[in-house]
Amino acid sequence: MIRTSLLCCVLLSIPGVAAAQADEPPLEGYYRLRGRLASGETYRGAARIVAGERGPELIVQREGRREAFRAPLRKARAGFLFRAEGSAGLADRVGVAAEEQIRLEARIRRRGERLLSRWRLTAGERVLARGSEELRKPATSPGQVYLSLSVDWEGRDLTDENLGAMERFRERFPTLPLTHFLNAAYYTKPGARGVDVTRQILRALRPDDERGLHLHGWRSLFEAAGVAYRAGPTFWGAGRPPTPCAGDEGHEVEVSAYTCAELRRVVAYSKSRLAEAGLKVGGSFRAGGWVAPRNVIEAVRAEGLAVDASAVPARWHDELRGTALLGRLEQLWATIQPTTQPYFEATPQGQVLRMIDTGALADYVSADEMVAHVERALQRRATNPSRDIYVHLGFHQETAARYLPRLQRALERLLAKSDPHLVIETLAGSARRLVGEAKVALARAPRKHREEDGIPLPAWDREE
Ligand SMILES: [Zn+2]
Repeated sequence: MIRTSLLCCVLLSIPGVAAAQADEPPLEGYYRLRGRLASGETYRGAARIVAGERGPELIVQREGRREAFRAPLRKARAGFLFRAEGSAGLADRVGVAAEEQIRLEARIRRRGERLLSRWRLTAGERVLARGSEELRKPATSPGQVYLSLSVDWEGRDLTDENLGAMERFRERFPTLPLTHFLNAAYYTKPGARGVDVTRQILRALRPDDERGLHLHGWRSLFEAAGVAYRAGPTFWGAGRPPTPCAGDEGHEVEVSAYTCAELRRVVAYSKSRLAEAGLKVGGSFRAGGWVAPRNVIEAVRAEGLAVDASAVPARWHDELRGTALLGRLEQLWATIQPTTQPYFEATPQGQVLRMIDTGALADYVSADEMVAHVERALQRRATNPSRDIYVHLGFHQETAARYLPRLQRALERLLAKSDPHLVIETLAGSARRLVGEAKVALARAPRKHREEDGIPLPAWDREE
């Protein structure tokens, strides 16, 4: 409900929705940290364990410190060793001059979902301080508020300004994973060099992020996929053609203008083009402009994307008044509110899990509104503490320099409260839990393409 550039977004994919199975819970994930110095003083922080090339890596950010510290977790007798040069944010807490040659050493033991650490700070032979920490995964019991954070990659351009804003955001919140709805149209733009495009995209990605798919009606993308381009209808309404953009056009064209069979080609092409670049997407999707009626959903479901994050409450988009898009959102998502929870929807191609973009994207929502949105969810949780609640916030890559600071301010305020029931995870993480609880099969394998143009269209395809 904020002034915006009328940038619209669609969403596309989410990673694997397979049930986690193991004797012990996976080590990777987000942890809350509580620490105690030998003096008795306590502190808090956050940590994340990610799968590195040579094994697990621990990222730690201690309360009040902007820097994060990252190092491998080395297997040791009865647990792990963590060694980092520097104090990993503990020096000023224990009154040590930062310029000394300090090392942090920690021995970490695993106890179910918890990691227990005993650490010491040393300078040469001297032990400067000792303490202990407990890292606990927050979501071990029902009754959490799960917040996921998404980025819509519009396929328009990759500027240093926006990618730099995303890099700074990642440095500020190194333990927070993002769900990226990537767009293959960067690769199909006239004159695009694939290696340069990939290098730019990778600036904003981190290994533990989720990669999904976003789709807009770019001419270059549809033609690369072998589909004849259509110039309308657009988000702006009858008679308003798409705006040319760097030798391409079609960002504002509703992808629902195409048949299910055509969309399948474009989704399949997008997936394979991104995979070729090393950016394989999982099972999550968001449609451009959030316009994902049934022909769109069936196409992406048939191509193996079973989690759709296109549903959005139209009420956030008052800036779109006077455009056809607002009417579309009000029509498509008439029943969707900021409080609406994920639900399964049957399609002829199988079940789809609809994850709601409950807080829209930062172009349309102020930091105050984002904070209030999540806090209301925490209040609802408090009245029914055994129920999980899912909420969502996000932004566009193409307007990150302008609007990502809103999300940053909101997260700083939310995280400062250290609410034990607020869990930030990817949409895929949420989807895995929901699928496990519902015992719904969301097989991800795409159905085989039939003969050319022979994909049977459901009766309601193109019914709009
Ligand atoms: Zn978009």
